[in-house]
Amino acid sequence: MIKFDVLTLFPDMFSAVLGDSIIGRAQEKGLLELNLINIRDFSKNKHRKTDDYPFSGGGGMLMTPQPVYDAYMSVAGNKENKPHTIYLSPQGKTFNQKRARELSKMEEIVLLCGHYEGIDQRVIDMIVDEEISMGDFVLTGGEIPAMAVIDAVSRMIPGVLANEKSYGDESHYDGLLEYPQYTQPREFMGRKIPEILISGHHKNIEKWKREQSLAVTKKKRPDLLEAADLSEEDRRFLAEFDK
Ligand code: SAM
Repeated sequence: MIKFDVLTLFPDMFSAVLGDSIIGRAQEKGLLELNLINIRDFSKNKHRKTDDYPFSGGGGMLMTPQPVYDAYMSVAGNKENKPHTIYLSPQGKTFNQKRARELSKMEEIVLLCGHYEGIDQRVIDMIVDEEISMGDFVLTGGEIPAMAVIDAVSRMIPGVLANEKSYGDESHYDGLLEYPQYTQPREFMGRKIPEILISGHHKNIEKWKREQSLAVTKKKRPDLLEAADLSEEDRRFLAEFDK
């Protein structure tokens, strides 16, 4: 069971994406809890304002610290062990499968979503343990990144996926990309599935999958091979593949 506390100005964005399908069912099964906190509800401004002009000038608005801090304290204030708090930010470390797996072991995670030009630095310094980025590009808000983190972390939690084995084979699980997959029909517009898959020879099929995984990674993301855990046999295959 994992709990996500999402601090956001746009809580309605979440239900459409996370309410259905696998993540929705996981909530119904009690495997995860999604606690959406509207930062605006904590504004002490008489117009419920949550942003203001940056002192540094330039265009755009910045989220003020008070509503963010009070929204955070509403979930973390009375806890002795503060939940791990992540700010979704283009300045953070790029998210990956390894981090998703690590985060899935936690009991509670606070996700802080920025908007406009971002958030006053003081409150970031006060409450944030980690900054996570979706990549080297700038989005309008932290909501889509927060949903991506919740989705990726949730499917690592035992019981969330019907078939636990399915993520073990997936891209990035062991540092490699996944082998190509095929379903019915056996022939589509003249293209047949690889013979080996209907051979019934499990050992050869496993070998084929591993080799395809290596070949796909070599072709699409050769940078991943440097950090991947490769056997002698894998290395021999890659050396042959290079010839
Ligand atoms: N002025 C900020 C900067 O240059 O670092 C960017 C602010 S961005 C327009 C607004 C919000 O979107 C950020 O506070 C952050 O929460 C979110 N955001 C934008 N790009 C992101 C990314 N690549 N990964 C994660 N969050 C992102």
